Amino acid sequence: MAKLNFETLSFQEFVCNSDKTEDNSKDTSVDLPEKSLKITLLKFFNSKISFKQLNKYLGSFKLLDEHTIEFPEIKQEKAELLFSQLLADSFEELTNSLTGNKTFYIHRNSGVPLIGNVAFGIVYRDSSIIEIKPITSCNLNCMYCSVSEGLNSDKKDFVVEKEYLIEELSKLLNFINKNVDHEKVEVHIGVQGEPFLYADMEELISEIQQMRNVSCVSIDTNGTLLTKNILDRLSKNGKLRINFSLDAIEPELAKRMAGVDNYNVKHVTEMIKYASEKVKVLIAPIIVPGFNEQEMEKIVEFVKSLPNEPILGIQNFLNYKTGRNPCRAWTWQTFYLFLSELSETHGYKLKLCKEDFNIHKTKELPKPFKLGDVITAKLVIEDRFNRSCIAVAGNRNISVPNCPFREGKKVKLKLSRDKHNVFVGKLVGK
Ligand code: SF4
Repeated sequence: MAKLNFETLSFQEFVCNSDKTEDNSKDTSVDLPEKSLKITLLKFFNSKISFKQLNKYLGSFKLLDEHTIEFPEIKQEKAELLFSQLLADSFEELTNSLTGNKTFYIHRNSGVPLIGNVAFGIVYRDSSIIEIKPITSCNLNCMYCSVSEGLNSDKKDFVVEKEYLIEELSKLLNFINKNVDHEKVEVHIGVQGEPFLYADMEELISEIQQMRNVSCVSIDTNGTLLTKNILDRLSKNGKLRINFSLDAIEPELAKRMAGVDNYNVKHVTEMIKYASEKVKVLIAPIIVPGFNEQEMEKIVEFVKSLPNEPILGIQNFLNYKTGRNPCRAWTWQTFYLFLSELSETHGYKLKLCKEDFNIHKTKELPKPFKLGDVITAKLVIEDRFNRSCIAVAGNRNISVPNCPFREGKKVKLKLSRDKHNVFVGKLVGK
């Protein structure tokens, strides 16, 4: 008998229409309901294994609870092996439950390094702020989103195994600190989406806070998924700063900015207030010209009413090719003039600089290849956009636009970007 238990997975039996292609059945009659095991990874990502498949390879089974499955007819070791194979196959069809978008699970055995891509893993810009990105996906649809993220997104998503992220982050910290006297860094969780959709977020933050060379963990959030209980738990360790987005105080305008009807600005401002009593807080509204500039006065007054003088970092909306662009961006001159006047009227510091965050240069991470190099790499998964792939070489991942995906295919690439160990390569030859 075997018993398999998974913390990050939950199981549920369900009935769906049979997939005729799944077992190459010759029966082309009407779809019959088929029983399957629904598998949910980290609360938001779903796949399934049919009962037929499970019975074929592992015999009968029983769900003991939502995380535990028992196979009475097979030994533990064999069950672990066979079930992990079925699981790996089912993850080929992993989808995001918020959007239905195809999702890739990046884990220790996935063969996908964590350095090289701006959307997931680790981005180290040779400075004292290391960015980590465990997830893509968002529960809002902000009208100005620079990465067009949210419920309307049709991009592929990534979710990264927490242990893998921690392991690779530790390796990077060891590298930065080799022969250097305790370089302190900030680990910044800034994702293409809402980081609190990552079910392991609290554990991730807690484990990073305990790392010796980490002076602070900072996290960007829209605040909608936070609760007082989460904030209580997060604030137990002092090394934390929460960066909230807040674009309007007026409820209807706030909904319009967030792009969803159920956005509740009252909840978000309550969370900001509660958080600012416990941890460092930064509030980062984006001025979207023609929409919310008149809200900035209210936001400054709201921030002034909070305890412990949170940082207010008003940002200039910028037009991005792959973002949502409801208007034309202000020039930097217009923006800084607006900030100066606002700052003067309300007596609050609004112009921030690198020194406010103690950002400094740290040890340079070597690049295995450089701009213009032609390299051979292996396609491993699809990238976020259609017809774009991720290839792997030299323990880095490389985005390859305009490339049909064929798993394992070797391709020749000319590197068109290498800045900060983020790589993009163009296909050359065949
Ligand atoms: S919360 Fe952030 S990631 Fe989500 S839609 Fe808004 S701007 Fe984009």
